[in-house]
Amino acid sequence: MLSAVTELHHNWKLVKVPLPFSLKWVNSYIIPDSSGYTIIDPGLRTDEAIGLWEKVLEYLNIEWHEIKKIIVTHQHPDHYGLAGFMQERSAAPVFMSSRAHQYARRLWGTEAESDYNDALLALFAKHGMPQHLLQAIDENLGEFRSRVLPHPEVTYIQAGDTIAFGDRQWLLIDAPGHAFGQLCLFNEKEQIMFCGDQVLDRITPNISIVPGEEQDPLHCFLTSLEQLKQYKVRLALPGHRDPIVNFAERIEQLQQHHARRLDKMLEQLQAGSYTAFECCELSFGSHLRQNAHNLRFAMAETLAHLVYLEIRKEIVSELSDEQIIYYTSVK
Ligand SMILES: [Zn+2]
Repeated sequence: MLSAVTELHHNWKLVKVPLPFSLKWVNSYIIPDSSGYTIIDPGLRTDEAIGLWEKVLEYLNIEWHEIKKIIVTHQHPDHYGLAGFMQERSAAPVFMSSRAHQYARRLWGTEAESDYNDALLALFAKHGMPQHLLQAIDENLGEFRSRVLPHPEVTYIQAGDTIAFGDRQWLLIDAPGHAFGQLCLFNEKEQIMFCGDQVLDRITPNISIVPGEEQDPLHCFLTSLEQLKQYKVRLALPGHRDPIVNFAERIEQLQQHHARRLDKMLEQLQAGSYTAFECCELSFGSHLRQNAHNLRFAMAETLAHLVYLEIRKEIVSELSDEQIIYYTSVK
């Protein structure tokens, strides 16, 4: 058995597709049925990932044309990036939600479509991030475009509908917060859920303020977790790390994690006034200055928590010297 391939029941396979950053790999799934194979979340486009897929398919004796469906749970490049490449090889339809697809176009579409990078840098600048770090983030963002091309032609699927693969029907469930437009796939009879990045074991899904999605992603995420907890899930198959057998318990741990982080941020702001960038460094440490990729996630996650606190009137913000400062109204 190839070390990147894990055998699941029903002859399903989990493939660890390599990523060139701290997450190390994304979980792709190969689900056979009478018509051929369905791939869930093919991975990020890198030479290493393509090399692995070629090896895996050869090892499993699968021809590209036997891939009949490609499903992308959400638009993040580590899930979406290889969809177009795989579609070129297999001619299979690529299924994802329209909202997720539109966001992918906003990130890496034509020049007219993609306004994401400039908007993100302007947002971070307004929240106190120094210029040289903005530049490092800009460069890091630029590296992603080649890792998602070519774009696939997408067939839209939506929450509330079902999709068939693996000789089973799967209910599509809207799972916003980590990525707006993300879909989970649930089979009630077997109590199995493909949960994308909404629930992960050992690591916490990143919850970010990103351009155009500035409302209250943390609230959306926590609400979504409450909804997902209502499903009876015996086995959750996530986008990273290991399959989850204690789904409801893991959800509670994630809820507690965010409650603790909110408490901690509130405590910091009771002691002083800070920009979001300063709050980010207080929470995550200044060593992230060396890692633009992780700094971007930490900064956007900090903003998501600050926005959550501000909407609930726990903190207030004001513009001072062209930067937004947060503080508690009670001093
Ligand atoms: Zn993701």
